[in-house]
Amino acid sequence: MSKSWKSSGNRPIVGIIGGGQLARMLLQSSISLEIDIHVLALEKDESLKFLATSYEVATEYSPATLYQFSRRCDVVTFEHELVDHQTVEELENRGCNLLPRSSTFRIASDKETQRRELSQIGVPVPLHLICHSFSEVQGFSRAIPPPFVLKASRYGYDGRGVIFVDSLEQLKQLLGDGSFTTSYVMEPQLEIRSEFAIVTVTSLAGEVYTYPALQTLQKDGICVEVSTDLDVNEETLNAAKAIAIKIAKHTKSVGIQAVEFFLTTEDDLLVNELAPRVHNSAHLSVEACVTSQFENHLRAILDLPIGSTSLLSHAVMVNLLGPSEDKKWRIDRDSLLADPIVKAHLYGKTIKPKRKVGHVTALDSNAEQARKAAWGAVQNAFVEVER
Ligand code: ADP
Repeated sequence: MSKSWKSSGNRPIVGIIGGGQLARMLLQSSISLEIDIHVLALEKDESLKFLATSYEVATEYSPATLYQFSRRCDVVTFEHELVDHQTVEELENRGCNLLPRSSTFRIASDKETQRRELSQIGVPVPLHLICHSFSEVQGFSRAIPPPFVLKASRYGYDGRGVIFVDSLEQLKQLLGDGSFTTSYVMEPQLEIRSEFAIVTVTSLAGEVYTYPALQTLQKDGICVEVSTDLDVNEETLNAAKAIAIKIAKHTKSVGIQAVEFFLTTEDDLLVNELAPRVHNSAHLSVEACVTSQFENHLRAILDLPIGSTSLLSHAVMVNLLGPSEDKKWRIDRDSLLADPIVKAHLYGKTIKPKRKVGHVTALDSNAEQARKAAWGAVQNAFVEVER
């Protein structure tokens, strides 16, 4: 970071790698702090074109492009894990100020490394084996019999890269009987009672704060709902919080990091994965917390005081996923906003089947009431475009 922005009176410049909804919401919270946002996006990205102080389109995130981009910013952050940690490290060595750091990416962006390192520091993770070919899976299936789950080590999100396998025959049809193009984490299909996330925000000096635990509900591997009312006891939540803090310290996290937990029907608390960035589970922090995850991420990477993460109300967030029927859809804002307790966030994206194109958050002292309002809003949100 040029040391000067704080003393010169210039507005800080934050660069964001990636141009999707997370960058869009970071930009939204930058406005009230007079932070300039420069975006480096790919051609396919849609969410911030015309919104940022500067918007560049790259064909790929090459070291040269990233270097030139970061030279124009006080600090650069990421809305995804697509840049590999070696590239981040190379740029750090050339004097670029990137947060989170390569030490965080090395662990967080690869499920294989993540599982290994978390196990090494005593964090409970699901039983798993790393496999590279069908014959390896066949051998491992003695220890982890079907039904099991295979997860691509890299580039998976929203359940993409996660394969639920009922039989070896089914797997053969999906991935063939030879070597795989990527390594997979293989683990038993667990009986999950509850899924929740603990989101941490870590200051540049290394102080870790936590957001209240947030319950996540998934359908077909995609998060559909997040809520503040949890069916998890206090003791388990305290254990999870301690784990999330331990992970933030181990990964040398700066800014927001999310840790996703499974609580099994046998009451085993396991870490499923971590995400070194602002996260879908804490979108409701915009309305429901004193300081949103987006604002706190910007504060952390600019070495500003961290804002309170306290909860103001019960809240339920529901994602707006494109309808599975492949038609031409639009969002009907009248339906979406009909209930006065519902707040909507649209991401400026073309509507495609199962694509996250927005979310709604409803606040109420009664969580059930908030849930009803949020689901009610999304129910009739998509209507077919008239030709
Ligand atoms: P992604 O990185 O794509 O989000 P996850 O590992 O979080 O992938 O898996 C997506 C969802 O699939 C989880 O939230 C959970 O609901 C389900 N899932 C993942 N692993 C297992 C498992 N071992 N057993 C049962 N369900 C699982």
